[in-house]
Amino acid sequence: MKTSTPSLHLTKGTSTLAKTSGPVVIAGPCSAESEEQMLLTAKGLKKLQGVTIFRAGIWKPRTRPGSFQGVGSVGLEWLRTVKQETGLRTACEVANTSHVAEALKQEVDILIIGAHTTVNSFMVQEIADSLKGANVPVLVKNPVSPELMLWLGALERFNQNGITDLGVIHRGFSTIDNAPYRNHPKWDHVVELKNMLPDLPVYCDASHIAGRRSLLRPVSQRALDLGYDGLMVESHYNPAMALSDAQQQLMPQELDMLLQSLKLNQTDEETTRKGVLMEELRKEIEHLDDQLLDLMARRSLVSAQIGDLKADECSLDRQQAWDDVLENLLKQANSFGINKEFVKTVFQEVRKQYAQTHLYADMGS
Ligand code: PEP
Ligand code: MN
Repeated sequence: MKTSTPSLHLTKGTSTLAKTSGPVVIAGPCSAESEEQMLLTAKGLKKLQGVTIFRAGIWKPRTRPGSFQGVGSVGLEWLRTVKQETGLRTACEVANTSHVAEALKQEVDILIIGAHTTVNSFMVQEIADSLKGANVPVLVKNPVSPELMLWLGALERFNQNGITDLGVIHRGFSTIDNAPYRNHPKWDHVVELKNMLPDLPVYCDASHIAGRRSLLRPVSQRALDLGYDGLMVESHYNPAMALSDAQQQLMPQELDMLLQSLKLNQTDEETTRKGVLMEELRKEIEHLDDQLLDLMARRSLVSAQIGDLKADECSLDRQQAWDDVLENLLKQANSFGINKEFVKTVFQEVRKQYAQTHLYADMGS
């Protein structure tokens, strides 16, 4: 996809979100549930190398009413206590302007824009406008749908309101087939974003991409291989009791093991980037081959129907009609920059094949 090169004014060098010596780890429960849960989890996480930011969902976007919607404002007080007791920086998702006002009042250190908010440019604009002059770091999650420009547009809206300490969180996308992930990573989108904005801090929310513990390691490793600034991993002192996303959260000790198992500088970024693009291109070519096959089958059906209708037409007329069609196709091939001889051979073969298997054997040349 070619677009005009975006330019963001970022706090280069003084970003509080960019990695310094090693990757930054944002960890904490999917949802704040109680003060005890927050403190027990945060105290466990504080001991882990790289964990400097504590996250917790205060207001939860849920598919249907009736499921746990988050504890609301009281959770912000618990976040404040976590900061006081552990020294960790705090982060939570804000989805409207009153969330922003409350979070800033309770001195949440970093605001996160959730994937279900990034999709809505009206909501993003309102939130961004409400942050004018706020001087708070903002991390923007990718939109649920794989639309890079929507993600970029959200960044631009914050930037235009003076937010320069900006970063993104890659949490995967909803696609036709997400398997084996909860949200498909589509790594190439982030590679493209990083190419456009090399100074933009990028985090990988391995939990929401993976959706299950077994995939956290490969997803996190791929992110590090691509040179991400950090990871976001959901952690709960007792995941079995979690009120949301129980299946993907790790106990702090498990997160420690995960982090220890990850390798830094395992491959050079450029090689991984090329690998990611190659994977995408291979998938695309497989898809195109499927489409070619499907088109051939459909063409053969339509052609048979024409054959039935024109059975009594003179073969000379048919030849003339075919010559005209072929001439037109070759002109188009030329304008698409495809080799004319190749196109001629393909179409002659297609027609020959048809002529051999259908009604009029006289057409096969
Ligand atoms: C979350 O981080 O808990 C969350 C709801 O994420 P997302 O916006 O990526 O769905
Ligand atoms: Mn979650």
